[in-house]
Amino acid sequence: MIDFRSDTVTKPSKEMLASMFKADVGDDVYGEDPTINYLEEKISDLMGMQDAIFASSGTQTNLLALLTHCARGDEYIVGQLAHTYKYEAGGAAVLGSIQPQPLDFEKNGTLNLEKVLKFIKPDDYHFAKTQLFCLENTISGLALPMDYLYQAKLFTETNKLRFHLDGARVFNAAIKHGLKVNDISSMFDTVSVCFSKGLGAPVGSALCGSKEQIKGARKWRKMLGGGMRQAGILAGACIFALDNNIDRLAKDHDNAQFLAKGLSGIDQINVKYDAAQTNMVFVTLKNDYLDLTEFMKNKGVLIPNGKELRLVTHLDISRDNIITTINHFKSYFKR
Ligand SMILES: *Cc1c(COP(=O)(O)O)cnc(C)c1O
Repeated sequence: MIDFRSDTVTKPSKEMLASMFKADVGDDVYGEDPTINYLEEKISDLMGMQDAIFASSGTQTNLLALLTHCARGDEYIVGQLAHTYKYEAGGAAVLGSIQPQPLDFEKNGTLNLEKVLKFIKPDDYHFAKTQLFCLENTISGLALPMDYLYQAKLFTETNKLRFHLDGARVFNAAIKHGLKVNDISSMFDTVSVCFSKGLGAPVGSALCGSKEQIKGARKWRKMLGGGMRQAGILAGACIFALDNNIDRLAKDHDNAQFLAKGLSGIDQINVKYDAAQTNMVFVTLKNDYLDLTEFMKNKGVLIPNGKELRLVTHLDISRDNIITTINHFKSYFKR
């Protein structure tokens, strides 16, 4: 199956499985798993941060960030469609008594800083204390502009806000800009990064930040039931991913662009593909084509249902797979 539904669907390669198999392990709750310790050091170095903590998912690393930045009754400013607001089951509110202040994203995935400024609450007992500003990069497949990130960093300093990045796909953003990932990540107080997206590991995310922040996150992770034991077998996959699968993200971006070009030749489809796009193509069907998903599935291509489709490229999709897919789309609309 050629699966375009997400970059989370990748399966570990033989080589990745081998590196899991040979991982040296210990009890990570005691801090004694050498492979986890090595991964945490490696990812914090890459990100230009003091320390890092490994966790089971990006939802958990984002939550650890929110819980360590914000106390009960504090507030974070976040995008309406951000993962840290919309797609994490309200964890910050439920588990942290942290109030979100969601704002609409601009078309390029930024939050307009003049608008954000208006929502920073004065120091007054009527209001929650605005504590944290969150961004997401990439956001809907778009790499945030670097000049915006510099402005946002200055803005958080001026306004005494903490600064968190949901960097589930921050390596895609770095590759898109032709930069080292720490050119992006080191601007933030904390960064959450996923190994289980385009990097191709089966499980795992890390939260990177200062020593103090990560010490706090260890306590919250334990409380959430996220302390794992011989988890080095998972870290083995993540280390393999960092060593082998970062630079190749450029291929996914090229494949996405190739797919976008191919599909834009079909009259019944509108393709949205921005210059800042990475591994995602967004298409809108001009009419209801209720059996398209089924048709494609029968040809061995998995795509989402509906009129608005997000198609994601990743390391289990080759250029040949893309060509095949474009041809199946064409044959569907020719019927
Ligand atoms: C996938 C993702 C996460 C984390 O999701 P998990 O499934 O919990 O690992 C966080 N933010 C964004 C933008 C994501 O795409």
